Amino acid sequence: MRREELQSALGEVRAVYAELAKRPLDRSCQARTECCRFQLTGLTPHLTKGEAILAAKAFRATGRKTLPESTDGACPLLKRDTGQCMIYGDRPFGCRTHFCNAAGGPYSRKQVLDLIHRLEDVDQRLGGDGPRKIQAALATAMQDL
Ligand code: SF4
Repeated sequence: MRREELQSALGEVRAVYAELAKRPLDRSCQARTECCRFQLTGLTPHLTKGEAILAAKAFRATGRKTLPESTDGACPLLKRDTGQCMIYGDRPFGCRTHFCNAAGGPYSRKQVLDLIHRLEDVDQRLGGDGPRKIQAALATAMQDL
């Protein structure tokens, strides 16, 4: 894939995130990061390919080269010492529409279905095969960078 095509695809992912932030939906992430501890929630975010590449690039931009191993069931991008997301500004769609009650509960699918479709379109443009669990999606994206 040409660099321009990739940049265009990643621009569309960012546009989806920006559109979500503009919607008048009563949600507010408190950055408690409980939803980043998948062993607590029993739920794991799934990423389309564009989201995964954007997240992998953001991770690389922190100066780190390899994903930390996660042995405690939490997201590999959760800083264990501070409890912060390493890529909060570029966190995936599922991390923005999560199920956390403190943030106002989950978005209903119909509230964001058009945005999901846009992410799926980007996934197809990038040759993805649909949403994958964050760990696997990130590992593949890191290899492809
Ligand atoms: S990417 Fe960030 S916000 Fe999403 S689960 Fe991982 S640490 Fe949490």
